[in-house]
Amino acid sequence: MAKSQSRISNLESPIHYNSYGHFLREKFGCRVYKVSVDGGFSCPNRDGTVAVGGCIYCNNDSFRPRSADRLKSIADQVAEGIAYLRKRYGAEKFIVYFQPFTNTHAPLEVLIPRYEAALDHPDVIGLSLGTRPDCVDESKLAWLEKIATSRFVTLEYGLQSIYDSTLVRINRGHSFQCWQDAMNRTRDRGIWLGTHLILGFPWETQEQMLHSADVLSNHGLNFLKLHHLHVVRETEMARIYQEKPFPLPELEDYADLVVDFVERLSPGIFIERLFGSAPEQQLIAPVWKKTNGEIRRVIEQKFIERNTWQGKAVVSSE
Ligand code: SF4
Repeated sequence: MAKSQSRISNLESPIHYNSYGHFLREKFGCRVYKVSVDGGFSCPNRDGTVAVGGCIYCNNDSFRPRSADRLKSIADQVAEGIAYLRKRYGAEKFIVYFQPFTNTHAPLEVLIPRYEAALDHPDVIGLSLGTRPDCVDESKLAWLEKIATSRFVTLEYGLQSIYDSTLVRINRGHSFQCWQDAMNRTRDRGIWLGTHLILGFPWETQEQMLHSADVLSNHGLNFLKLHHLHVVRETEMARIYQEKPFPLPELEDYADLVVDFVERLSPGIFIERLFGSAPEQQLIAPVWKKTNGEIRRVIEQKFIERNTWQGKAVVSSE
């Protein structure tokens, strides 16, 4: 049996990919949930440090959960988020996820008290920071490395595409090389490394998107969040789409694309998300009229129908 196959088939569930949720539960021996908070940061791609206007698809309100309210203190956001997740899902331990905007975009002396406020709750086991690859430096990484000796620390470097032509087109304000440099500087510090990738840019070919799996498999990533391209209100992409609609994936096509992608992804990378989501009132397209659970089941059914799994078609880097 191939090494990749044996790894996936160790899972007790019928899931055919390495789920980050399963991993957390196995690692900590209980139900671990992420509590999203708003740390009160801005984004260098909006405030003029790198650019203004931001990424053309970005509306932070479209991915801000109820608990993340910058008008409240971090301690209050954590306490309220934990109370909600305990009641709703029976969650036992928590990772505080600094989610909206760029959560390392401030001097270290500003960051530390905010991170410490999050870690202060007795049931918080770790910290997860959503940020940009051009927004970390040695002092921040060294501090996080120290915290990672006793807590679970993850850094999520937004990337969205490995192609510089796409990064320019979506106004990311950094290159793929910048992401690789950040990965190289962060690796081997005990910090878990994640990234976000969007599938479905209409100008990227299917083979280009699948090749992203080959490339990302070889950068020491610990986990990955996949998002389908969707258009949300109050973004530059919405303006472009409404002026001249472009093709967006139907759910069945996207499910096949994700399965193709995951087949080529190293089985050593845990998958935290298989698709994006946005509140109904924010979403312009594509509208699949399904709950998140239903979308996940459509994708998981594809793995079953196709009798395939993560890493089945990994391209050797030798
Ligand atoms: S997606 Fe992230 S980096 Fe881009 S504008 Fe929004 S907050 Fe900034």
